[in-house]
Amino acid sequence: MAIKMKLDAVFANSIESQSRMKQSKVGRRIGKYEVGKTIGRGSFAKVKLAKNSETGQSVALKILNKDMVLEHKMAEQIKREIATMKLIKHPNVIRLYEVMASKTKIFIIMEFVTGGELFDTIVKHGRMQEDEARKYFQQLINAVDYCHSRGVFHRDLKLENLLLDTEGNLKVSDFGLSALSQQIRDDGLLHTTCGTPNYVAPEVLNDRGYDGATADMWSCGVILFVLLAGYLPFNDCNLTELYSKISSAKFTRPSWFSSGAIKLITRILEPNPEKRITPSEILEDEWFKKDYKASVFYEAEDMNLDDVGVSSNNSEEYLEIEKKEEQPAAMNAFALISMSKGLNLRNLFDIEQKFMRETSFTSKRPANEIIKKIEQAVKPLGFDVHKKNYKMSLQNIKSGRKGNLNVATEVFQVAPSFHMVEVRKAKGDTLEFHKFYKNLSTCLEDVVWKTEEDTRETD
Ligand code: ADP
Ligand code: MG
Repeated sequence: MAIKMKLDAVFANSIESQSRMKQSKVGRRIGKYEVGKTIGRGSFAKVKLAKNSETGQSVALKILNKDMVLEHKMAEQIKREIATMKLIKHPNVIRLYEVMASKTKIFIIMEFVTGGELFDTIVKHGRMQEDEARKYFQQLINAVDYCHSRGVFHRDLKLENLLLDTEGNLKVSDFGLSALSQQIRDDGLLHTTCGTPNYVAPEVLNDRGYDGATADMWSCGVILFVLLAGYLPFNDCNLTELYSKISSAKFTRPSWFSSGAIKLITRILEPNPEKRITPSEILEDEWFKKDYKASVFYEAEDMNLDDVGVSSNNSEEYLEIEKKEEQPAAMNAFALISMSKGLNLRNLFDIEQKFMRETSFTSKRPANEIIKKIEQAVKPLGFDVHKKNYKMSLQNIKSGRKGNLNVATEVFQVAPSFHMVEVRKAKGDTLEFHKFYKNLSTCLEDVVWKTEEDTRETD
């Protein structure tokens, strides 16, 4: 997967050009996506089925009206969270592939799931048995904790945002994106269009500033209650009454709740966010622990070469947007940390391959110099080099053990004179990649500032 950090460019240079949004014979196209039927409608968004015309992959396309998002008010935090979301690949989180913008709309390309909403399951079949509810709740906590550890908060967790895949696994949607709806709420627009705030934590109702992590935890508690009870813990037609019920965390305990479930829910629905149970405490909870399975991560995907414009027929459109970037994609320290964590984790769960398949190094040299040096180093090793902005695709002409070794690199700017260079195996044998990287780092000795435990082996 090529990591794109073009978000600033997307929001800054919103281009509704003929090339970007073509009206073609097959119907509407947005970038490389063919737009299909509407599959859902939210309070401020429309969700359509779409198809990646290059890979045939079905995706969900969420369309937001930009006048509701108010570009100039788009907080840095939101942009950062969306950028980080693109790096997050968790089995219980809907993948965010791309964010594009036109003059009037924001297009969010996401993983498409077909199992429906957990909300509908409850509506159709009523409350769940504890074992079933626990399975979903464990997956929810895994997803939420993972995103929180990377600085991304949901802020709008509710049953309607929990989707299911064909295997019945939970997929949390709108992670990091609800920050957009928060923005709308701040502008007073959501009051009229949105339902009641049944899932919202007391401190969110009472205060302007609040901690996204503890507030999300509260919403998880409301979700667990709904799964087990079949109705909401806090409900009232009168908003003032509802607020007061939430603030005092007064809910009635259904007779069928086990004592373990009550104990846990009470620890989550704790009105004081500082006293509320933390994710690590949840993992120690007796009721929660039963049949608990830690998340199993996907294998890293091979990179789509079109991402660096090797054979893409619409690469010019992207160039049009990207050439305005004078600097490599800026990365803040947070994204950097979360990314290296991500790399570690993926390696950790990589059972089959003993060696890392992606790594990074840092450099104090200018980005162009780094790229030139990489090019000089790999050409004698028999690699074809394709460059686009600060991304490179290196393809070995000779076939290796698992086909031709393909390597993708990308330069990220951490500070004006400080870059991080990601080096990733896109295709081929990991052992060959390992050797390649050793070779490369020797050639780049005068460019590399410090290798970050760069040959992390997991065996
Ligand atoms: P909002 O957040 O504005 O309420 P949603 O994101 O919930 O809008 O989208 C509305 C509906 O579209 C969802 O309830 C769901 O049925 C459908 N939907 C949203 N995202 C996906 C997806 N990734 N895959 C399949 N269906 C989706
Ligand atoms: Mg939603």
